Amino acid sequence: MQMLITKNEQTLFFKTLDFLPTPALIVREDKCNHRGRILFVNKAFIKTIGYQVADIPDHLSFVSKAYPDINYRHEMTNRWLDRTTQLVNRESSLVQLCSKIYCKDKQFRWFDVRTELKSTIGKGVVIVLFNSVDKTKTEALQYAKLASTDPLTKLANRRYIQQLLQQEKSHQKYGHQTEPFSLIMADIDLFKQINDTYGHSCGDYVIETVAKIMRQTIRKVDAVARWGGEEYLLLLPQTSTVEARIVVKKIMNRIHAYAFKWEAQRFNVTLTYGITAYHTGEETNETIKRVDGCLYQGKEMGRDCIVSDGLLEAWGG
Ligand code: GH3
Ligand code: MG
Ligand code: MG
Repeated sequence: MQMLITKNEQTLFFKTLDFLPTPALIVREDKCNHRGRILFVNKAFIKTIGYQVADIPDHLSFVSKAYPDINYRHEMTNRWLDRTTQLVNRESSLVQLCSKIYCKDKQFRWFDVRTELKSTIGKGVVIVLFNSVDKTKTEALQYAKLASTDPLTKLANRRYIQQLLQQEKSHQKYGHQTEPFSLIMADIDLFKQINDTYGHSCGDYVIETVAKIMRQTIRKVDAVARWGGEEYLLLLPQTSTVEARIVVKKIMNRIHAYAFKWEAQRFNVTLTYGITAYHTGEETNETIKRVDGCLYQGKEMGRDCIVSDGLLEAWGG
């Protein structure tokens, strides 16, 4: 394509972009300070994303508006850099990234953002296209959420926490983390009696309430899943068994103090807990087997207790 060098040709080109149904912006790259100036946004951009050139005069202001969450912004910037470095020695110069953009009407929408790295329309002038993928991406995320969530407690399900465990394991493998992760397996004591005494719906209420207490007690980086009927598995990244025991005690105290109530009847609920840490190099099902063994030992020892890698700790200890 011939370079657009005259002002008139540039104006004509910008006007043509207004007929394009895809949101587009034009940026002039500035290699010195990475604050590429935004020269133009087309009508589809203003209609769908909302910002005008005055709102986003340069690349940095666009990025901070489009990605208000600093962590997501860093993630997007890093992924963009990764993609561009991968292209350095390749024929193609098309960079493509699916991202969630905060639009001027305060709504987040998903776009497939793409650009040609090697400028084809003028020196350092690059066109960026924003293909809307909001409907498909939102649906895909909803399906993924459904497939990974337990319907009763809204906790992660067994399959999903197994995926998280694999991820944690690979972080260990590549040395991204110094501390191993810990697992806690917890099981409601004599739960069958609760079902038999108060009914199955009451049993469901207990499973849900325990889930809520666990979710409210753990950190944002931790995960809790419904492992089975009245059994939970917690994953605590970068946590030793000593630290995990503090978390278990917190959960234990809260459940002991909680006033469970069903049809005007009050009752207490206890759980037995197993704790273990991941041993570098092992398969995650070995870690699970070990924590399950700890839990079993706790049941054998009389329930309502914590067993951390073979060491029993009775309630109140
Ligand atoms: P222990 O202290 O040894 O764990 O005894 P327990 O009675 O808790 O254990 P057991 O495995 O004998 O019984 C678990 C019961 O949980 C059996 C099953 O019917 C019930 N259960 C499993 N899933 C659900 C559920 O989603 N809702 C309800 N209400 N009950 C469930
Ligand atoms: Mg039980
Ligand atoms: Mg059980």
